[in-house]
Amino acid sequence: MHRADLVRLLAGQLPTGALHTGSEARVLDPGVPDDPTRPAVLALADGTRHTAELVVAADGIHSPARGLLFPGHPAPRYSGFTTWRTVIPTRDARPGPLGEVWGPGALTGVLPLPGGRTYLYAAALAPAGTRAADGDERAELLRRFGGWCAPLPGLLAAAQPELVLRNDVFEMVTPLPAFHHGRVALLGDAAHAMTPFQGQGACQALEDAVTLAHTAWTATGLGSALDAYSTARLPRTTGVVRRSARVARAVAVRSRVAVTLRDTALALAGRLPESAVVRGAAPMFDWQPPHLLSATRNGGVSDAARG
Ligand SMILES: Cc1cc2nc3c(=O)[nH]c(=O)nc-3n(C[C@H](O)[C@H](O)[C@H](O)COP(=O)(O)OP(=O)(O)OC[C@H]3O[C@@H](n4cnc5c(N)ncnc54)[C@H](O)[C@@H]3O)c2cc1C
Repeated sequence: MHRADLVRLLAGQLPTGALHTGSEARVLDPGVPDDPTRPAVLALADGTRHTAELVVAADGIHSPARGLLFPGHPAPRYSGFTTWRTVIPTRDARPGPLGEVWGPGALTGVLPLPGGRTYLYAAALAPAGTRAADGDERAELLRRFGGWCAPLPGLLAAAQPELVLRNDVFEMVTPLPAFHHGRVALLGDAAHAMTPFQGQGACQALEDAVTLAHTAWTATGLGSALDAYSTARLPRTTGVVRRSARVARAVAVRSRVAVTLRDTALALAGRLPESAVVRGAAPMFDWQPPHLLSATRNGGVSDAARG
């Protein structure tokens, strides 16, 4: 599913008028949970101030809210990788190819999307901030990956230069001590920015959101809801960040010997029985939303869980 389609679907579930975009918000005071005299205080770009019972700060990798809540915490670090993403209209409406190709210090991947489109991504080691000398990132992709195996050359030739996104990848190497402070909960990259090599950054943000909604709905007070949120999400996301970093290290190898060893290990892993592969990936994919877990424990879905 294209990310924009998922965002549209989720936004479509909100009551009319609930979603306002285009205004920066800054946390001035995180407040004190369960003390009605100490709400969180926010300032919008137009200077107006607002108080809030709960602030969910999903303000991305360079989160200003994280800086306010945990001022001494190390900032996200450049991972060494730059990345490209693009969606290529493929005339053929049948599902296209699916897979990843690894090389020395670089990889590319393709995924079919509905509607005859193909998602192509690529990552390569590069100094932070470098960009294609002529400003044409599709040409840069062709320079770097145009000689790789099919279907990459054909797909890159069909890519539209203005639709190629390039981002340097930053990651939070040291986990935060908690995902909340006062009445503010951090969510998504603001809480646990990771490399994209497991395709999990946005997935973990969705898990955060479902968990926070659940704890806020079921806990007896905001303080205990936010404690439960951090307790549930910190170990889980720290594990995924580390798993993704391990893959990044494997992609990063460049010497001929190390690449041969890595590729041999991958080829052998490809011969493992499917059950072993599924078992290995289970810690990442076997997550259950908390309301379903409590429904299972209680033998049915409670009203709170339905909510
Ligand atoms: C190449 C690449 C491939 C990826 N592939 C995948 C994948 O396959 N699967 C996956 O799950 N994840 C993937 N990710 C990771 C994913 O993109 C991120 O983890 C995800 O976008 C994080 O979402 P977020 O809402 O936390 O932050 P963001 O998407 O960064 O959104 C933060 C938002 O907050 C806004 N904002 C910032 N400050 C303020 C403020 N003061 N007031 C108001 N708004 C503010 C920003 O404008 C922005 O809109 C990939 C990332 C890269 C770079």
